[in-house]
Amino acid sequence: MRVENKVTIITGAGSGIGREAAILFSKEGAKVVVADMNEKAGAEVVEEIKKNGGEAFFARLDVTNREQAKQVVRDTLARYGKVDVLINNAGIIQDALVLKMTEEQWDKVINVNLKGVFNCIQAVVEQMINQGSGVIINTSSIVALFGNIGQINYVASKAGLIGMTKTLSKELGKKGIRTNAVAPGFITTPMTVAVPDKILEMMKEKTPLRMLGEPKDVAYAYLYLASDEAKMVNGAVLSVDGGLVI
Ligand code: NAP
Repeated sequence: MRVENKVTIITGAGSGIGREAAILFSKEGAKVVVADMNEKAGAEVVEEIKKNGGEAFFARLDVTNREQAKQVVRDTLARYGKVDVLINNAGIIQDALVLKMTEEQWDKVINVNLKGVFNCIQAVVEQMINQGSGVIINTSSIVALFGNIGQINYVASKAGLIGMTKTLSKELGKKGIRTNAVAPGFITTPMTVAVPDKILEMMKEKTPLRMLGEPKDVAYAYLYLASDEAKMVNGAVLSVDGGLVI
């Protein structure tokens, strides 16, 4: 029970890494708020958690909607009375080479991946300051550290999250709030399902551990950072990438 009774909001918890994290956290004793745009997928995650004897509820959340983000926090407080952990996991890709990228593609990815995280943090931070405790985990990416062809919008958003993480670790550390980032490498989820086999093989070759990541590999990193085992960890970027260099 590494996160026993910790009230944990996970954005994008209806799919992939967020789904795995929601289920893992509930097994480790957390009360989980499954926050996602997709009600059907989110409700399935809640059902799975309850089937295992865990505690969770679904909250509809489009992270670009500031009012919805505030409402999720209000609903969480009404139900559980506190917010211990916010995992900013929701994210999207809309890839194109720089010459071909549309303004819409740029804006959409920045809005969800970067401003969406800002919205959720602002919604929760006053409560965490009042509590004198809290953990914020931002989901960056290995591409934020190395760059990646065709992903100028995504890389900018994920590199921005590292800057936000380091800044908040300084602003909020003295209030008892830890902020860290996780930088996953290549993880097999619905986000990466369309990637051709040839590229998957190439990724494996480039990974010293010679394997692709699974959602639970990232979920365990979230779990560590959320737990009291990481009480001295603040402003860190934890890579979960098998040593991949792209
Ligand atoms: P995923 O399977 O596509 O899951 C992302 C979830 O976020 C989906 O449930 C999606 O809902 C939801 N979402 C999208 N836009 C949202 C919004 N505006 N508000 C709220 N929820 C929204 O992706 P994943 O692979 O698990 O990715 C999780 C995180 O890890 C993302 O931040 C991603 O950038 C990051 N990451 C992934 C990898 C990888 O290799 N998979 C690598 C590095 C970093 P819908 O399904 O309805 O769109």
